[in-house]
Amino acid sequence: MALITESRLRAQLAKGIPNPFRVNPEDKLTPAAADFLKSRGIPLERVSSAQSFSTSDDLKADLRIPVGVSNRHVHLSEEHVELLFGSGYRLNPLRELSQSGQFAARETVTLAGPKGVIPQVRVLGPSRGASQVEISRTDGYLLGIQPPVRLSGHLENTPGIALIGPKQMVMLPEGLIVAKNHVHMSMEDANRFQVVQGDRLMVATAGDRPLLFTDVVVRIHERFSLELHLDTDEANAAELKTGQYVRYVGRNGEITHAIRR
Ligand SMILES: [Zn+2]
Repeated sequence: MALITESRLRAQLAKGIPNPFRVNPEDKLTPAAADFLKSRGIPLERVSSAQSFSTSDDLKADLRIPVGVSNRHVHLSEEHVELLFGSGYRLNPLRELSQSGQFAARETVTLAGPKGVIPQVRVLGPSRGASQVEISRTDGYLLGIQPPVRLSGHLENTPGIALIGPKQMVMLPEGLIVAKNHVHMSMEDANRFQVVQGDRLMVATAGDRPLLFTDVVVRIHERFSLELHLDTDEANAAELKTGQYVRYVGRNGEITHAIRR
């Protein structure tokens, strides 16, 4: 049973309210919600739950997850910052990233592989224990190296890459990855989606090329804000841009909400 309130209807106004407005036989409307529909000339239709699923689902705007598209980038250890940019050098923040404490630095490096180079690759800060380079599969073809899909920090048995900075070149022995898609969330979001660290979300994209991502790793931290991180290949495949939304449809292989556009 759902309780349909005026404020939920108002939240749905921007997207458009279905006419007629279908609800389950057991759903309840507040008097204000009933007036709200009446004043707009939208009739109420009570139908069985199977038919009305997507309508009651429309009200769940809280199933949306904003997307952040990550272009190729580099995380550097302090040692590598100094080798590439000079002794005692510290990264200069250019702009803050959506996850608190993280920033895009003014500094860039050139990636050099056996088949090609990619200049002006953004360094992200602050510096870390181990250097890590995240590229797309497309970048891999350009460079002539195909790294595995990995979560950040899981660098065992990954290939290396040459980094060229203004001072000198650094040959990383390992640390080149294609980032595994993941979703950042706070404890409150985790409660809402009923997931724990390491669970896999299933999310649906809308638009002209709707796709399902069925194995999105959940990363929970009190300082995280809700965001699905995709690389440029994934975002391009789904016609998605930073700030657009995907929709939660399930977790750990089980679809719990209707997949629809
Ligand atoms: Zn991320």
